[in-house]
Amino acid sequence: MKNKKVAIVGAGFVGASIAFSMMLDNTADEIVLIDIDSNKARGEADDIAHGVEGIANTAVYAGDYSECRDSSLIIITAGRGRQPGESRLDLAAENMKIIHSVTDSLGRYYNGCPVLMISNPVDILTASAEHWLGQPGGVVFGSGCILDSSRFRRCIARAAFPGDHKSQSDCSRNINAFVIGEHGDAQIPLWSSVTISGKSPAEYCAEHDIIWNDDVRQSIYTETKNMGASIIKAKGRTNYGIAVCASRIARAVLNDEHFSASVSSTLCSVTDNIRPSLSLPSVIGGKGIISKAPVSLNTAEKERFEKSAAELTDMLKKLL
Ligand code: NAD
Repeated sequence: MKNKKVAIVGAGFVGASIAFSMMLDNTADEIVLIDIDSNKARGEADDIAHGVEGIANTAVYAGDYSECRDSSLIIITAGRGRQPGESRLDLAAENMKIIHSVTDSLGRYYNGCPVLMISNPVDILTASAEHWLGQPGGVVFGSGCILDSSRFRRCIARAAFPGDHKSQSDCSRNINAFVIGEHGDAQIPLWSSVTISGKSPAEYCAEHDIIWNDDVRQSIYTETKNMGASIIKAKGRTNYGIAVCASRIARAVLNDEHFSASVSSTLCSVTDNIRPSLSLPSVIGGKGIISKAPVSLNTAEKERFEKSAAELTDMLKKLL
């Protein structure tokens, strides 16, 4: 049977945290870390590998792009992160150059396997990498709004059970809620399809004597949208949440699971020859994104999604 091998390009905080999370998840047979700073990649790989015995069977090591020849998945985390006060789109020009150099370096070693983009701005970089690698939609895809969706569920649970961490954690597992569109300030919470334990939030909150109104919804949306910036202000970066999300996606690819999450791909749109990549609930399997998951948007959600698609298309036309 083919080895389940994952190449992670970029061994910074995010790349190393993904490797660590995947090592604990024990799904991959091999994880290779590739970085322009080969010493850093080696140091991170050795550090992670020293925890392997007794916990997991994954071989973790550093290497170069030739290691991608037989990879089942490539995860790209190379590039600069946001500084406090910056938006993700502020990173576009700088990180486009880095990701272009990564796709060039993959060159003849790229075997057509799924590529998961993590670097920001993730939607712009997903569409660009798809273009540079010459792949059909869905093979190259981005973590997109999977992290925002998880934050959204947490914020809903926090509003439902203020101060009660255990109930928040129990509740968030029973919440079905997605954020779609841009992984950025224009993200769209899909209020029309939120359910808590199978009920609408209004119904659930009425039954449990919890306040639920426009103010509560607005504060959940604002908190979800600003969560990344707030963590960056507090600790300088975000790395653990995205690492667990990427590791979950990697498991879906390596095991061909058909797992649904709100991730970014150009399958969301067929507008132009330059197609933006945006998040919609999507089914992830061994070949990347297999299809969009069924989800219905109301008119306002559709309009916001289309506005984002038009803005990102314009931006891509300028940048590519
Ligand atoms: P970091 O600075 O710690 O690491 C970046 C790494 O990229 C460094 O090790 C650097 O040497 C490497 N690198 C730079 N140019 C390279 C090249 N040409 N080839 C190979 N490696 C190269 O940054 P980080 O905190 O790990 O963040 C990485 C990226 O992930 C940022 O763009 C950040 O915004 C993004 N991010 C995305 C999400 C998300 O939800 N999608 C969440 C957190 C961070």
